Amino acid sequence: MEKSEVLIIGGGPAGCSAAAKLHQLGIESTIVERCTFPRFVIGESLLPRCMDHLEAIGALELVEQAGFQFKNGARFILDDKIADIDFSEKSTQGFDSTFQVKRTEFDTMIADHVQKMGIDIHFNAGVEAVELKEDTQITTYRKNGEQHQIESKFIIDASGYGRVLPRLLDLIEESSLDPKSAYFTHIKSEKLWNYIDEQKVNYIIGPLNQYVWIIPFADKSVSIGVVGDSSLFPDQAEESTFKKTLYMVPELVELLDTFEYVMPPKLIKGFSTSVSKYYGENYVMVGNTTEFLDPIFSSGVTIAMESGILGAKLAARQLKGETVDWKIEYEGYMKKGVAVFQNFVESWYTGDLIKIFFAENQTDSLKRYICSILAGYVWDEENPFVKKHQRGLQAMAKLVS
Ligand code: FAD
Repeated sequence: MEKSEVLIIGGGPAGCSAAAKLHQLGIESTIVERCTFPRFVIGESLLPRCMDHLEAIGALELVEQAGFQFKNGARFILDDKIADIDFSEKSTQGFDSTFQVKRTEFDTMIADHVQKMGIDIHFNAGVEAVELKEDTQITTYRKNGEQHQIESKFIIDASGYGRVLPRLLDLIEESSLDPKSAYFTHIKSEKLWNYIDEQKVNYIIGPLNQYVWIIPFADKSVSIGVVGDSSLFPDQAEESTFKKTLYMVPELVELLDTFEYVMPPKLIKGFSTSVSKYYGENYVMVGNTTEFLDPIFSSGVTIAMESGILGAKLAARQLKGETVDWKIEYEGYMKKGVAVFQNFVESWYTGDLIKIFFAENQTDSLKRYICSILAGYVWDEENPFVKKHQRGLQAMAKLVS
């Protein structure tokens, strides 16, 4: 039977960052990945905090030189008003910019980087079963129709929407957020390109609590998606229903009277999920396997890489014989950051955050603190919205309105 000290399920940003970090710490791992790369995944707007992660796994220069679309902030559009967030105004020290990436290219680049480090990735290999024991874990995967097994001491589940361990161990929980869906594609439209800020992720705030994201890419195509209550969306993705859904946002009717599809539209219904716990005795779940909140604020890849790197560091310590308090050092830490984003997502939908973004009497310090969160620096205890996030936003919305 094949053996590896750590077995990682999934070769997305979470799995690859975990493998790279383990390698740096002298621990050998193998990644088992269901797809062959390049493969499409949604989640194209990165946050500056991601640049710290890329640096930590030795991939920063690679990504900086790849020609991805430069990103320096976020633009929110409400009727004829614009609110811009510029990451260079953030209160936390760190990167002021990042990139918007086609994940087919970005994820392949990171996977190649990891392979060059000497880490084995089995592509086209879907994990089907896991047997958890005290000292050895047996993972069964299928490749080209045949079953194979790998023995490892520890498992990192980075299977994202595949949610391998949450399904096998019955850990899936409903998210506390309202069920929302997203309908998206990549298009080319000169009119839309001229309307947006190409160095930002752009959001148009629509009626019925809907919003549209527009993420510009270096080749002048854009990722465009509508997010809203699941009840407003059809059951199947088709070009005709996609256009109809986009046109619920009045600005887009004229802006997108003609456009060219780069790929067929895709639909994800009820994207938010959660799990009852993040770890077990000899396994940890990282990235989207645990939680996904909402595309607003682009937190997904940042959380995936933060958790992949932290999960790997703690696994390495445990494998070297140290005691790890997974509840505090992993789940507690990750949940702290997720809670800051979750509060922002909830305040977005109650309208509090939108009031703050568009308020004319914003102080410089308020702007800097909010900017830090939107840049992904959600563990900076110096930021009052990290420490007292629940009360902070409500009170601030009242104050500015
Ligand atoms: P993934 O990138 O999903 O990688 C998991 C890997 O595991 C996949 O390659 C998959 O093939 C593999 N896998 C699955 N099952 C198995 C199996 N059984 N065996 C082996 N391998 C398996 N995030 C952002 O940062 N910015 C955004 O703008 C953004 N927009 C989003 C918009 C929408 C509509 C949604 C739903 C999400 C968005 N996200 C965004 C979130 C982002 O998609 C994820 O957070 C991110 O991809 C998580 O990375 P990951 O490595 O955990 O999982």
